[in-house]
Amino acid sequence: MSATIIRNGRIIDPANERDEVADLIIVDGRISDQQPNEFEEIDASGLVVSPGLIDIHVHFREPGFGWKETIESGARAAAAGGFTTVVCMPNTSPVADSPSTIAWIKNRAEAVADVRVLTTGAISKNLEGEELAPIGSLAQAGVVAITDDGRCIQNNELMRRAVEYARMFNLPLLDHCQDYNLVGNGVVNEGYWSTLLGLPGWPGAGEEAIVARNILLAELCDHRIHCQHISAAGSVRLLREARARGVKISGEVCPHHIALTNAAIENFDTNYKMNPPLRTQRDIDAILEGIADGTLEILASDHAPHANFEKEVQFDAAPFGILGLETEFGIFLNLLVHKHKTIDLPRLLALYTINPARLLGLESGALSLGAKADITLIDPDLEWIVNAAKFESASRNTPFDGWKLKGRAVRTIVGGKSVWSL
Ligand SMILES: [Zn+2]
Repeated sequence: MSATIIRNGRIIDPANERDEVADLIIVDGRISDQQPNEFEEIDASGLVVSPGLIDIHVHFREPGFGWKETIESGARAAAAGGFTTVVCMPNTSPVADSPSTIAWIKNRAEAVADVRVLTTGAISKNLEGEELAPIGSLAQAGVVAITDDGRCIQNNELMRRAVEYARMFNLPLLDHCQDYNLVGNGVVNEGYWSTLLGLPGWPGAGEEAIVARNILLAELCDHRIHCQHISAAGSVRLLREARARGVKISGEVCPHHIALTNAAIENFDTNYKMNPPLRTQRDIDAILEGIADGTLEILASDHAPHANFEKEVQFDAAPFGILGLETEFGIFLNLLVHKHKTIDLPRLLALYTINPARLLGLESGALSLGAKADITLIDPDLEWIVNAAKFESASRNTPFDGWKLKGRAVRTIVGGKSVWSL
C-alpha cells in the first residue's frame, strides 16, 4: 500500500461543488477517506488543490514530426503546465486515421509519458475531407473524439454522415471551423492590419459560417459537436442562441485569442501567426462575455510546436500555431480571474476539469471518493515571469516569453504520483 496526505489545501472540486480547506487522502493512487497508518505528506497551506487539469487540444507531432515535439517532450510540457490529461490532434504523419496509428500513439504514450495522453482520430481519410475514416474502428481502438483539426470538412453532406457515425459510437466531434472559400489564403484577421501590412485577410465570417453549419447538423443529428478555438464575436452569438435552445453544441477558447489582438502582428513576428488568427478587441470582449455567461465552457491551448527554422521565415510562408501548455493556465488565471474578473477561480477550474471531462466522457475531472488521484496544486497568487528558454517543450515558438503573470500550477500529481513540481 502507498499513501499520501495533502494537508491544509483549499480543495476546489467544481464537479462535487466542494470548496473548503481540508486534507485530501490518496491511497494506492485513488482518492480515499480512510486514514492510512503510513503515509507521505505534502503541505498545501496557501495552495489550491484542484482535480488534475485537462487540455483537450494539443499537437504532440508524433508520429512523423518529432523534431517539433515528441510525445515524451509534450507530456513533460503538460506536466509543467499543471496538466494531468491531454488530448492529441490527429494531424501527424501518417495521419491518425487508422487503428494501427492509434495503437502506435497509445503504446508510445504508455512507454514515455508521465501524464495521461489520449488521442483523437481523423474524421476523413488523410484529413482530405473526401472520404470518411473508419470511425467505428477508431472508436474501438480507443480514440476519445474525432476531428480533422487544422482542416475542416467543407462538404456538409459528408459532415452530416460523420456526425451520424460518431453518434452510433458515442464519440463527440471536434471541429476546426473554417470555410475555405471565405478564408482563401488568409493568414491574419481581415481588417485594418491586414490592409496596412498587405497580408491576405481571414474574415471572422469564415469561422461563423461553419459554426452555423455545425449548429444545424448537431440539431439535425441530435449529437455533440464541439467548435474548437473560437475567435470571432459572431461565433459566440451563434453558440449562445443555439445552446439556449438545447442544441448539443459547445465551444472552446485558447489563451492567445483573449490575450492578444491582431495589432500584435505589426512587426511580422511569426509567433503571432495562428489559425484562426488573432482578432480585434471587439471579438475579445465577446469571448469574455461568452465565458462569463457559460456560452464558452472549455479552455484549451491548441499547443502547436514548430522549430525555429520553420517559424523564422517570411510571415506568409510560416506555419500556423504557437506553444500553449506551459503558459495557458497562468494566462487564463491572470486574465480571467485577476485582471478582468470575468469568472472566479472555481469556475476557471470547471472550464479546465469537469467540463472537458464531460464532453469527452472521461472519468477524470473530479476529486470524488475512489477516483484516480489526478491532482493539480495551484498557487493562485504566485507572481512569475515566463521564460521560454526553460520550457520542457522541444520548441520555443511562443509570443509570451517575458510576460509577467500572477498564478500558476506548482505541482502535478497523476494517479497519486508527483510527476512535476516547481
Ligand atoms: Zn485548429
